[in-house]
Amino acid sequence: MKSLKAPTYVLLMLCLLLMLSACGGAPATPDASVDPGASAASSVDPADSAAPESSVQPEESAEPAPPPLTAEDVFAMDAGTVLTPDQIEEVGVDQLFRSMKIPDSVFARMDGVSYGEGCVVPRKRLRYIRVLHRGFDGETHIGELVCNRALAKDLLEIFRELYDNDYPIEKMLLVDNYDGDDERSMEDNNTSCFNFRPVPNTEHLSQHAYGRAIDINPLYNPYITSSGYTPTNAGDYVDRSKDTPYKIDENDLCYQLFTQRGYTWGGSWNNVKDYQHFQLKAE
Ligand SMILES: [Zn+2]
Repeated sequence: MKSLKAPTYVLLMLCLLLMLSACGGAPATPDASVDPGASAASSVDPADSAAPESSVQPEESAEPAPPPLTAEDVFAMDAGTVLTPDQIEEVGVDQLFRSMKIPDSVFARMDGVSYGEGCVVPRKRLRYIRVLHRGFDGETHIGELVCNRALAKDLLEIFRELYDNDYPIEKMLLVDNYDGDDERSMEDNNTSCFNFRPVPNTEHLSQHAYGRAIDINPLYNPYITSSGYTPTNAGDYVDRSKDTPYKIDENDLCYQLFTQRGYTWGGSWNNVKDYQHFQLKAE
């Protein structure tokens, strides 16, 4: 029996120890009152758990995320490039209608081509313009022009309004892309302005030679004289009584925007008709 009582004693001692530890645990109850704080800490947990998540996010986006597109990035693109609506929104449409002194990179293209020997307009009086235009494909393209500085503000305003109204212009590249050959530029339906050259078949300087005239969608709006028309592939668009596409007439937005700023339209001349042409002569 004694041998049985000894384990009983041990059990009693164990119970006592448990009770004591329970009492020792009692002081822990005040700790439990800290629990709200702990639960407050646990309410922080989401933030804590978010932190590791957010620290993961940059890792995920760091590599594939391209830097935001800037106006300078777009300026580095060739004229004619298509921009997506997202790209335009990223840069801001206002940043994409710009006028500037002729940059060296642009003058290098013009020198000896549209800016030929004996050019009567100093480089400093010309401006390089970048705009957006709606192509015949419905896409937004980068357009470029060189014009007299006296026209720069008008042209920026006019091309912005044409763009905002989805007015279709197929191409807007410097005539230098066609080696300064006006006929080739027109045949390609290229809208352009400055080109130091005489009026065809005359010795008179064209207003284009001063950067004071612009030709819009020239293939569809040819230059017509008693002896013929240019460009030579514009035969389908010579009869202006027909309802031809991209036709400039007095109901046309282009006509309205230019003439309300005092420009002359070649379509209203008497001896020849130059339906693509708007000019602002020096006073
Ligand atoms: Zn012209």
